Amino acid sequence: MKHNFGAGPCILPQEVFKQASQAVLNFNDTGLSILEISHRSKEFIAVSEDAIKIVKELMNVPEGYSVLFLQGGASLQFAMVAMNLLQEGKKAAYLETGVWAKKAIKEAKLFGEVEIVASSKDANFNFIPKGYTIPEDAAYFHITSNNTIYGTELFDIPKTNVPVVCDMSSDIFSRVINVADFDLIYAGAQKNIGPAGATLVIVKDEILGKVNRTIPSMLDYKVHIEGESMYNTPPVFSIYVSLLNLKWLKSKGGIAAIEKENIAKAEALYQEIDRNPFFKGTAAVEDRSRMNVCFVMENPELEKDFLKLAEEKGCVGIKGHRSVGGFRASIYNALPITSVHVLIEAMQEFAEKHK
Ligand code: PLP
Repeated sequence: MKHNFGAGPCILPQEVFKQASQAVLNFNDTGLSILEISHRSKEFIAVSEDAIKIVKELMNVPEGYSVLFLQGGASLQFAMVAMNLLQEGKKAAYLETGVWAKKAIKEAKLFGEVEIVASSKDANFNFIPKGYTIPEDAAYFHITSNNTIYGTELFDIPKTNVPVVCDMSSDIFSRVINVADFDLIYAGAQKNIGPAGATLVIVKDEILGKVNRTIPSMLDYKVHIEGESMYNTPPVFSIYVSLLNLKWLKSKGGIAAIEKENIAKAEALYQEIDRNPFFKGTAAVEDRSRMNVCFVMENPELEKDFLKLAEEKGCVGIKGHRSVGGFRASIYNALPITSVHVLIEAMQEFAEKHK
């Protein structure tokens, strides 16, 4: 049995993969594949509507927000956010907490002035900056709620009158959030939502329509809202599997229930990292991510041996990102706590062997 600690794309429960594979052959007894039915058919329109409905239900999305499944990944949102929200003569404020934030900043600069209100760049992004000031006149303030590469997570959402935009790609649906604290949330599907291909956007309608620039239709949130998330051919498979996965989440008790499990998984793993003299965590303790657990070995020469032992036990995908090194155990919603226990056992066995 494999325990997939990979950072993505698309770690989903086995039962969801099974249902998805069935739908590729025969979708809902139509005798057709989900891949071939018309996206304008009543069957697919129901899928799209249900997917939007379940997002609203699970996240408790208030009135006045639109939910969209777009394409282009979170990376396209880096540009789309600025294109749609960065008003002429205003600046956008960004919190620089990692490579993804840096990329978002780079794209925003194409559309106007950007102020980086705080950065943890000098510490290789191993903490979330605090105590910064958000300029009152900013068009919006952009944050990344979970920094997938560095294993840091932003738990205290800043309270401000400036519209808050959040890249939630790697922790959406993992913990309860108050959507009303945000004006725009976006997330590539491929961690806790579904297969790569769709990008979830939750946007407060009233923040749109305030820029004068010409926006190409495909990049205009308003066009997608008017088209009910079907302006063009949507990523049908990704949306369908996202629906299956979100139904699975609902059946488990929703976000509050999975959050409890996620806390238990993360606590168990960090406890072992802190207890075991062979390992140490790389992120500031108060900012430790519950989704991506980054750690290194006190003696880096032993890393290869530990990786081998972990792989022998079926733990895959734990090699760290090259910019941090060591290990990164991604423990998304679909990974059961039993898999975390297997990794902990490997760490304990390794320490026992090498003491
Ligand atoms: N933002 C975060 C926090 C991510 O983790 C990633 C990818 O892992 C991205 C953005 C980029 O997403 P995409 O590949 O969908 O463009």
